[in-house]
Amino acid sequence: MKHKKIDNYIAGQLRPPASGDYLNNIEPATGKAYSLVPDSDERDVELAVQAAGDAFPGWSKTPAAHRARVLTHVADLIDENLDALALAESVDNGKPLTLATSLDIPRSAANFRFFASSVLHFRSESHATDNTAINYTLRNPRGVAGIISPWNLPLYLLSWKIAPALAVGNTLVAKPSEITPMTASLLANLCIEAGLPDGVLNIVHGTGPKVGAAIVEHPAVPTVSFTGGTITGQEIARTAAPLFKKISLELGGKNPNIIFADADIDTAVRESIRSSFANQGQVCLCGSRIFVEQAIYDQFILKFVEETKRLKIGDPLESDTNQGALVSQVQYAKVLSYIDLAQTEGGRILCGGERPASLSARCQDGYFIEPTVIVDLPSNCRINQEEIFGPVVTITPFATEDEVATYANSTDYGLSASVWTKDVGRAHRMAERIDSGTVWVNCWMLRDLRVPFGGMKHSGVGREGGEEALRFFTEPKNVCIKIPES
Ligand code: NDP
Repeated sequence: MKHKKIDNYIAGQLRPPASGDYLNNIEPATGKAYSLVPDSDERDVELAVQAAGDAFPGWSKTPAAHRARVLTHVADLIDENLDALALAESVDNGKPLTLATSLDIPRSAANFRFFASSVLHFRSESHATDNTAINYTLRNPRGVAGIISPWNLPLYLLSWKIAPALAVGNTLVAKPSEITPMTASLLANLCIEAGLPDGVLNIVHGTGPKVGAAIVEHPAVPTVSFTGGTITGQEIARTAAPLFKKISLELGGKNPNIIFADADIDTAVRESIRSSFANQGQVCLCGSRIFVEQAIYDQFILKFVEETKRLKIGDPLESDTNQGALVSQVQYAKVLSYIDLAQTEGGRILCGGERPASLSARCQDGYFIEPTVIVDLPSNCRINQEEIFGPVVTITPFATEDEVATYANSTDYGLSASVWTKDVGRAHRMAERIDSGTVWVNCWMLRDLRVPFGGMKHSGVGREGGEEALRFFTEPKNVCIKIPES
């Protein structure tokens, strides 16, 4: 069968890669290629940077209200094409169609809508310096920005960067993960339909080492916004630092999920299932380390394992599926190797840990792993320290706030945490003590687009979201005007 070829989106045109080469795009649920993604290289990046540079003077001088209208139009088109986009995301990524329909795609539209509106309320500062001068800050767009995004929430994370960057007047070269290129390719069509001027957004598909690296190295790209793994983030920082580029890095996580004995246990179990296994555990915010206060440890485990076993794993396109496929063969092998390591490190698997026994004929070669619950591991072992990024959680008992705060902060990561308790004082104490960019109390992944989002320690540099994002994509320039003496 001839597979559909995805195109790059450069200077307003859909075009093949300069090399003429394509990579197979695999459907994770079947393990089979179903489309072809451009294997672009630095020649395509060069064209895209050129196009973005040409478009910059016009777009940056376009009134904010007009830019906002175009971005709102993109949001409307995402909403209108919800079903097609959700299907594309589910097939590309292996996630349940219900999740893509209820979360990823609506949130992508929300990103465009939110930043289209917030740019209209973007403030800059002014300072009266005694009676001698007025200082005011001009915030100009920085030029051509490079946007590099991962495969786990493909359209959502891409739009989270594209929308603020465009809203304040930058032009862009974006590289989605080549493992999940389909929704970005559909977005290109929607941008054309919405009337986004040629060259304002350019999307170059291909691999990190060829396309991603060429964007980061390009001298005409002064801003790089990256979401992905910590190792890749280090590489990007190494390249960007001597070129004095402004970078934002949203990286990995190994997030603690802390349950105190006074928590509402049924809610904590239900939401911990979600925070452990949503998108097969492939969300940077997943709470992959659960800590439970000793007094309710046995009770929690009983309920948690019982609920985990109820999750239906299988074809992502079926409406009652809770757990789809992992995104790729590489990710599948990596997660299985961690499950082996857990046993070597002395862990006891309470459920999961295997490929499911019964899968539909269509999914026989897909990358499925049962949701896996592991206990009896020390907090400093590799399983409790390294990001697995799959449907694997550990559960560890604790006795005191001090002990659990030490466990929570014992990794190199610091992206997010959840704390479950009815004691308001304890919630505040824990929130203050945990080293992470976000602390959720009695909830998980409850998002407000206005709040600063990002990680501490090896989970990232900088913050996205709300005004932080608009500020990131602008260059502040102070203008000092002396007030003449009368
Ligand atoms: P990677 O770091 O492997 O890839 C992210 C992106 O970077 C991909 O588009 C990738 O291309 C590209 N890339 C790879 N190498 C380079 C390079 N040398 N120069 C420039 N770009 C490069 O991450 P994954 O795609 O595997 O995503 C999973 C990771 O993302 C997890 O660690 C997860 O925690 C993190 N993440 C963080 C979030 C946050 O907000 N903090 C949110 C979501 C995910 P290619 O696909 O070709 O490799």
